[in-house]
Amino acid sequence: HALPYIRSISPYVPGKPITQLSREMGIPPEKIIKLASNENPLGMSPLARRAIEAALAGAERYPDQFELITALAERHGVAAEQIVLGNGSNDLLDLVARVFLSAGRSSVAAEYAFAIYELVTDITGAETIIAPARHYGHDPATMLAAIRPDARVLWIANPNNPTGTFLPYADLRTFIERIPPHVVVVLDEAYSEYLLPTERVESIAWIRDFPNLVVTRTFSKIYGLAGLRVGYAVAQAEVADLMNRVRQPFNVGNLGLAAALAALDDHLFLAESYTLNRQGMEQLISGLKQLGLEHIPSHGNFITVAVADGAAINHSLLKEGVIVRPLGGYGMPNHLRVTIGRETENRRFLAALEKALHA
Ligand code: PMP
Repeated sequence: HALPYIRSISPYVPGKPITQLSREMGIPPEKIIKLASNENPLGMSPLARRAIEAALAGAERYPDQFELITALAERHGVAAEQIVLGNGSNDLLDLVARVFLSAGRSSVAAEYAFAIYELVTDITGAETIIAPARHYGHDPATMLAAIRPDARVLWIANPNNPTGTFLPYADLRTFIERIPPHVVVVLDEAYSEYLLPTERVESIAWIRDFPNLVVTRTFSKIYGLAGLRVGYAVAQAEVADLMNRVRQPFNVGNLGLAAALAALDDHLFLAESYTLNRQGMEQLISGLKQLGLEHIPSHGNFITVAVADGAAINHSLLKEGVIVRPLGGYGMPNHLRVTIGRETENRRFLAALEKALHA
């Protein structure tokens, strides 16, 4: 007796767990490398690790979001009432959907955009209208054309996952200006910390101009805290208030809150992570070129590579103990997304890929 439309939802398929591959292929877990979920190859900030140890002392108490919200509000020059914390930024996407969508309404997402937009829309009974991509990226023209009278949310991932594409902020601003004010614009910036300083614009400052804008960020990527599940949204206070009404009161645990607060100020770790990503990107691009493979130019911490047979290459990589992300679920069966790892991991991936191509 489940709601009938729930059965038509395609489940989200995460990167294959190391433990599972280890069992399937009989490879010891320490011999496996996972470059499948855009995690930080350096692990977590040492300051965050220390903060977690200290936070264990208060773990018998329910979590208190005050300090992290205050720090984020100060960081971005907004009021505390404008911040919503999420159990990862996925949680925030879900909150937006639950506040603004239901049967009889629609949301707009780009083709090849992050899969959760469609998922959180579908869960509410609303319909996701998919706007055709341009060069694998968001196309403002098709997205604007996809806005029906019943549209209430429009999702923008910038940079986008799984394609790594990026709309320059000047174009993005023009795009947002053309979206009708009754449509909430979710600007998902999970990877914005990886942009070049010259590409980056503080979009949170735009919230003053756009009462319908919600910007989301995450501690899962450059901050290295994916397993602790912390993200945040910034919006005008009225929108943040609505999201907070549907939010589970204790949606982020004590350890995640403490780690995020400490990670926010670990500038050394952030700089190291940024640099490693730039170097790894160059390493992978030149390695892929040597193998004669095309890729989609990426602005994130991953690269999406075109191969002749995605499923076969993926299988060969798994046999070598290398986990990447096949993109069949995204309608890109002949693309594989690889997260940029440490130098040795990238080298191992390229070697396994070369072997797979000749298999
Ligand atoms: N947005 C994008 C574009 C992502 O790629 C991801 C992670 N895969 C997220 C949001 C969600 O990440 P998290 O819930 O860990 O913050």
